Amino acid sequence: MPDSIKRLADLFAKFPTIGSRTANRFVFYLIKQPKEKVDELLRAIEEVKKNIKLCQFCFNPHESEYLLCNICKNPSRNKQLLCVIEKEADLLSIEDTKRYNGFYFILGGNVSSMKISDVGSLRIQELKERAQNPQKFGLTMVNFSEIIIATNPTQEGKATSILIEKALKEISPSPAFKITRLAQGLPVGGELEYADEETLESAFEGRK
Ligand SMILES: [Zn+2]
Repeated sequence: MPDSIKRLADLFAKFPTIGSRTANRFVFYLIKQPKEKVDELLRAIEEVKKNIKLCQFCFNPHESEYLLCNICKNPSRNKQLLCVIEKEADLLSIEDTKRYNGFYFILGGNVSSMKISDVGSLRIQELKERAQNPQKFGLTMVNFSEIIIATNPTQEGKATSILIEKALKEISPSPAFKITRLAQGLPVGGELEYADEETLESAFEGRK
């Protein structure tokens, strides 16, 4: 394979869920596209990188001049609830149910049962700081009384929830919030992102 094809394919192969075959298909697709289409793609990538920043409290990507995302800026959110999730897509799924009105924290992944090295890239320390002192990160008037661990019902999600719970219990002086988890009923091995709204809603309502 020509070097330039291989170089681009290697970059695509680093994307989540993209294997080397799909990466190759992306490259061949691009080769067939007219130059304007490729330019449009390059511009869109540059603009995302330039305009999107991460919320200083929850790490949700957003596009505004503020430090906080629209959810964290919204004064009508429930100031006692924090929901810890693995990734951005989980936030969107939970928001779609319209049943949860608290704040979020995006951990940035899960504990992969295979790779110990992944653990360091999770935002565990950031979570502890925000759970303890949300005001310091821009959520004025907020005091959490409950932190809901909403990791996926997978092996990795379970391992992650144990890690989160352990970290939150280390906070001293010991915090006033209780720690809960989503109810069983989500398909085991499934992902929140793909759960239907009704299932997700009842998982929230039955949390303990
Ligand atoms: Zn936010």
